[in-house]
Amino acid sequence: MNCDVIRDLIPLYVDGVCSDESRYTVETHLTKCESCKQYYEAMTTPIEREESVKAIKKTHKIHLWKASLLQSALFFISFLVITVGVALEASTAVGEGNSHWASVLVVPATGFLLSLVNWYFVRLYKSRLSFSLFSALFTLVGIVLCGSWAIWHYSGFFQIALLGGGFVFSNIFTTIALIVASYLLSLLYARLLGKE
Ligand SMILES: [Zn+2]
Repeated sequence: MNCDVIRDLIPLYVDGVCSDESRYTVETHLTKCESCKQYYEAMTTPIEREESVKAIKKTHKIHLWKASLLQSALFFISFLVITVGVALEASTAVGEGNSHWASVLVVPATGFLLSLVNWYFVRLYKSRLSFSLFSALFTLVGIVLCGSWAIWHYSGFFQIALLGGGFVFSNIFTTIALIVASYLLSLLYARLLGKE
């Protein structure tokens, strides 16, 4: 359940006017979510209740802002790496180290960029962990697809799964590093959004 929804329900819960189902939802959520629990405690503490609620709302806003900043920064960095890779690739003479920059920079960055699209669907995932695992998986899928495309482009062969797998194998450290980065960064993103 989304933290925003829980926070809408907490005042009703505190006043004891919500349905049994809502009460159960709120209670279950409060056992798992530290920031909503603080929100609830602030609501039920009469002294400086308004101030505490305000402070928590402010923290929540800052977290949302940081999450957007993280997502935008990753889009920007990926685009930058792709642009630099394309420029270096274009300035390399045909036959001389041809496709080097494509495989070192363009393909991994494009694969990572593709997986960032998943971040727009963070709300569809039940938990932070499932979102992060799928983000990491999509990074691998993105790199395999882009690797296949690149090998097809350079060699003229069209055997997507095998060729993409071959790309991943020959760039195994970059691929692993990006999958781990994707997992950790998406975990941080979901945490900032207050996802359980
Ligand atoms: Zn929460």
